[in-house]
Amino acid sequence: MKAEIIAVGTELLLGQILNSNAQYLSQELAALGIDVYFQTVVGDNMTRLAHAVETAAGRADILIFTGGIGPTQDDLTKEALAGVLGRSLYEDAEAMENVDRFFQGRGVPMTENNRRQALAIEGGTPLPNETGLAVGNAIEQDGKFYIVLPGPPKEMKPMFERQAKPWILERALTGEQPIFSKMLKFAGIGESALETKLLDLIQAQSDPTVAPYAKEGEVTIRISTKALDERAAMLKLDAVEREIASRLPEYLYANVDVPIEQVILDTMQERGLSLSAAESCTGGLLMEMFTALPGSSAVFQGGIVCYSNALKEKLLNVPHELLEGENAPGAVSAETAKVLAEQVRLITGTDFGLSITGVAGPGQSERKPAGLVYMAIARQDADTAVFELNIKGNRDTVRIRSAKTLLYRLWRALQD
Ligand code: ATP
Ligand code: MG
Repeated sequence: MKAEIIAVGTELLLGQILNSNAQYLSQELAALGIDVYFQTVVGDNMTRLAHAVETAAGRADILIFTGGIGPTQDDLTKEALAGVLGRSLYEDAEAMENVDRFFQGRGVPMTENNRRQALAIEGGTPLPNETGLAVGNAIEQDGKFYIVLPGPPKEMKPMFERQAKPWILERALTGEQPIFSKMLKFAGIGESALETKLLDLIQAQSDPTVAPYAKEGEVTIRISTKALDERAAMLKLDAVEREIASRLPEYLYANVDVPIEQVILDTMQERGLSLSAAESCTGGLLMEMFTALPGSSAVFQGGIVCYSNALKEKLLNVPHELLEGENAPGAVSAETAKVLAEQVRLITGTDFGLSITGVAGPGQSERKPAGLVYMAIARQDADTAVFELNIKGNRDTVRIRSAKTLLYRLWRALQD
């Protein structure tokens, strides 16, 4: 089963808005096991829209439209599709009631063009709009399936989830096996190194399929299979997961889609451990990663952003001789990272203290190159561990990688 997404709107072509609907729909369709071979964007123009419909119908089984079903003259999607299908439009009574109710509730008169939002294609299934006014549509003709959704994401997503998806499952996907996936999450290893270790599995592209995705500082492997039900799928997925885990045990931190900081928080909470941080070049990025997660206060107590040398001295007791002087190691050094982690741990009274100090770039600092970063993990019952990194990349990359690498090191420390 092949699908094509057709996003309608001149503002998309002008680059005024991002086609996030296509991303959402592609993800949803992939999860249903439907292949998306083409995404089309077309402006609010009847001729080109009709052309896009005909082209897509020639190469896909399911056509999904978003946008161009509002009240104004440039909203042409339903007219164009009805024209190509040789069907007429009618005013759907339920949808019209929805429009009327909206204007009555607002106490403003309805302008005539709003009736257009209740138009549906003859012989199709109207898809109610629970978060807006324009009714959607699902039509089957000559073995092809056509689905019309609104443009605004807050209307499109609920309509897809609650109306279109059940219709697709019932009408278009009968007899097809659904797809099941598992996400394996890795840290501390780059995408290419990871791919090399799994190349045979990835290239085989057999069942289950194995596909890597990289984000700054972490890699995700999605393993997917089609199966009759979840149990049958999990049998296949678990076997591949075990194989992958056996090859990369020190990098695989989760088999669900969570960030590594979540795993760290869960582990530390279970063991009743607390955490604090002192950050220089990352300016609070690491603390932001923790505090972004609900419930983090059970573990993460807080920390200090000590960007200047003066604050490193004043708030974290880094000795002046370490920071300044002809032969001093400087702020970006293993020595300073160690003191920062130990001091923040002592000052806050936590079990673990973390630190990051480095040159975020683009220029050098203390005659040290951009991308040179030191970080440390101090704990009550063990020696402070210090790590040196040499990160290639721009300022953003250096900062994110530093934080992510420290998270990985902390996760490893918790493994032991
Ligand atoms: P309306 O009733 O608002 O006119 P509509 O269904 O006619 O809705 P459009 O007029 O094409 O949809 O787009 C309305 C708004 O929805 C856009 O201004 C934009 O904010 C959002 N939108 C439309 N298409 C997309 C898309 N492909 N991705 C993300 N947002 C979109
Ligand atoms: Mg519109």
